[in-house]
Amino acid sequence: MAPSKKFFNKIDKIEIKNVSKNYGAVIAVNQVSLDIIGGELLILLGPSGCGKTTLLRMINRLVETDDGQILINGQDVKSFNPVLLRKNIGYVIQQIGLFPHMTVKENISLVPKLEGWTEKEMNQRVKELLELVSLPPEQFLNRKPKELSGGQQQRIGLARAMVMDSPLLLMDEPFGALDPILRKQLQEEFIKVKERLQRTIIFVTHDIEEAFRLGDRVAILREGQLIQVARKNELLVNPANDFIADIVDSNKKFRHLDNLTIKDTMLPLEKKYIFQSDETAQSAIQRMIKEQIEFGIVLENHNYKGTIKLNQLYANQEKKLKEIYSQVPTYNSTDSVAIALDDMKKNNNFIGIVMEDEPIGILLSDELLSRLI
Ligand code: ADP
Ligand code: MG
Repeated sequence: MAPSKKFFNKIDKIEIKNVSKNYGAVIAVNQVSLDIIGGELLILLGPSGCGKTTLLRMINRLVETDDGQILINGQDVKSFNPVLLRKNIGYVIQQIGLFPHMTVKENISLVPKLEGWTEKEMNQRVKELLELVSLPPEQFLNRKPKELSGGQQQRIGLARAMVMDSPLLLMDEPFGALDPILRKQLQEEFIKVKERLQRTIIFVTHDIEEAFRLGDRVAILREGQLIQVARKNELLVNPANDFIADIVDSNKKFRHLDNLTIKDTMLPLEKKYIFQSDETAQSAIQRMIKEQIEFGIVLENHNYKGTIKLNQLYANQEKKLKEIYSQVPTYNSTDSVAIALDDMKKNNNFIGIVMEDEPIGILLSDELLSRLI
């Protein structure tokens, strides 16, 4: 790999010290102090407008602080050239911002190219990253963004953010625009990527389920102030005040999961998720991209056969779906959701199919729910 200016090979600690930011009369971030430990995934959680994005962007200096200090490994971010600082910090946002006229490869290797990497180095790195985000490289290297689904574009955004091998990744609601099933798919994939990469990650979300699923610790913000930062279980057991208690309490109702059936909690099966077993993979790919989904249920004469995922179809385009579907567990709509979630967790499935005579819904597992049983 060509030499490039690396500010940090590893994050030991990020210290946010008494940081504030005002926009006129609006106090976006109000005297926030917070330490991030190297290697953790810290969630910034809170309602829209509470200052999450502003706080995140002060770390890579897309926003400058009015007051206070941010130190990475003991060094003030203001001591770095901001452009070089941003090259050293991966950044993923919801709107992705891929360049429409560039191919996937060109989009991912933009910074490496500026840094003078050779063609061979760039090819190798892009291939590695595409595999990491579950996209077969041969199929995707030369595509343009408009030929990709929203979920695939989001994966490219993640690959691009990791291209310089930065030990710090800032992610601002990266899965926020995706539908619930795709969101779960990407969360699951992201958990695996995270485990492999061992980066320090600061991840913004307003979704408590996502926060509890992905975060090592969760920092809860309200009206620009940090209310509490703690591990998930501490937040549940020792909420700092009523505001936190309310946030986590909305989930406590699931303690009585035994009284809920699967039908109460499933997502009803929409038509767009249904595919027929004699359809080809190629036609399924086209439909999925059009519908912005990456998951489907395969039927044969109204009978459930199995499920398909978009990224697995590319290698088998000529085949019929009956030859390539895979199995996920099925549950009866009247079964207890507690038992189903427990079963899914044990078997490491995040998705289940809900059956009456035909499939009628999709059940998404949730770590939080199963922990609260
Ligand atoms: P969040 O990401 O939690 O939704 P933001 O950090 O985007 O919140 O915004 C916090 C507050 O600061 C909001 O009231 C928002 O309207 C305001 N704000 C953010 N950016 C700007 C800006 N560039 N100019 C004016 N006000 C802003
Ligand atoms: Mg925001």
